[in-house]
Amino acid sequence: MKFSKLYCPTLKETPKDALVASHQLMMRSGMIRKLAAGIYSYLPLGLKIMRKIECIVREEMNRSGAQEILMPSVIPSELWKETGRWDLYGKELLRLKDRASREFCYGPTHEEVITDIVRNNINSYKQLPMNLYQIQTKFRDEIRPRFGLMRGREFIMKDAYSFHTSESCLEDTFQEMENTYGRIFSRAGLNFKIVEADSGNIGGSGSREFMVTAESGEDAILECDHCQYSANVEVAEKSGGTSEGDRCGRCKKGSLSITRGIEVGHIFKLGDKYSKVMTATVLDDKGNASPIMMGCYGIGIGRTMAAAIEQHHDERGIKWPLSLAPFLVDIILIKAGNPEQMKIGEKIYEDLTKENIDVLLDDRELSPGIKFKDADLIGIPFQLIIGNKTIENQTIELKSRKSGEVQILNLSDIISTIKGVTQ
Ligand code: ATP
Ligand code: MG
Repeated sequence: MKFSKLYCPTLKETPKDALVASHQLMMRSGMIRKLAAGIYSYLPLGLKIMRKIECIVREEMNRSGAQEILMPSVIPSELWKETGRWDLYGKELLRLKDRASREFCYGPTHEEVITDIVRNNINSYKQLPMNLYQIQTKFRDEIRPRFGLMRGREFIMKDAYSFHTSESCLEDTFQEMENTYGRIFSRAGLNFKIVEADSGNIGGSGSREFMVTAESGEDAILECDHCQYSANVEVAEKSGGTSEGDRCGRCKKGSLSITRGIEVGHIFKLGDKYSKVMTATVLDDKGNASPIMMGCYGIGIGRTMAAAIEQHHDERGIKWPLSLAPFLVDIILIKAGNPEQMKIGEKIYEDLTKENIDVLLDDRELSPGIKFKDADLIGIPFQLIIGNKTIENQTIELKSRKSGEVQILNLSDIISTIKGVTQ
């Protein structure tokens, strides 16, 4: 991609309503634009990163044996009335009417729809277990949408739902999903903790959250310095009123401390909560009908992108992990009007593209200062700087965004060096 053709409206000023680094940097680097409170458009750069996260999520979900589907966003009210959530969900549910005044909602989550599909199309235990997922736009009319993509009203979620004939089978898939989420967030370059979360009326260790540690996180995590215990403070409080400095309720030895985190993923054993009221049953090997056991597993795609920025930025901009970077290399021509610089830049651009390395060529006729600033802001992991020295000495500067380190390379070594550092 040539920078002159990239639609990436960067901003010098930080928008006043952007309070956290990820929101500020997504706006300043031209990744997103706000349409209304909690509702955003994704511009080319932002969408490219979203797609990279989705790709990691897909690969790992598929690897776990889950199958991708796509359900509708607009859901008839009847299904939500069956489970009682039409009333329970309250104002967060965006309700709509069609031309015949039939009621619908814009789906904030899809337990009802998936349970309806499964009850109509599965009848034997032999067809289970099964895990279905989608990557889809959700709407929740959040009371306080804020922090950009971190807490939006319209947002993209990966939601998966698993179906089983026994609790032990559900437990196996729950564990498999915990491992899968671990792989996903590790590949995305995130530091995360797995914490016990509110499991509603299911009880037990039926609910875990994946928390990306960050000062700006809206959740507080309680951790024991002695045993493995870590929980969302909301949960810890319900189970005995523990807080920072207290003795751990589990091991009775360690003391508890609080860190802040962003909930990027949530895995949950639903049991027969939905299958029972919606009569989604299967016949067991003796011919008896019993409710299907279910699990559900969510990941916020946009919130994961925001969390990655919260963990990887400095005062100049974003420092993308290699796996999420919109481009791996930015070729910066000190003087784009210089035909010799342009020729070298284009040659390297072509060679890297042939190696399947995603590369940006900053061919804009702007001052080098502006180009360096944009490269730092957007957060491309490597800058290749082509100037007069390149032409005089056949050398080129390679700068790492993460470490700030600069290497002087011979032109002939560029491709192999870049291949080495971007793998
Ligand atoms: P929260 O407690 O932050 O409101 P939640 O527990 O209601 O979230 P879930 O129903 O568990 O969210 O949804 C699964 C995932 O979807 C969350 O872990 C999060 O990553 C993402 N998510 C939920 N709400 C939002 C939102 N308003 N904006 C962006 N992502 C969201
Ligand atoms: Mg949750």
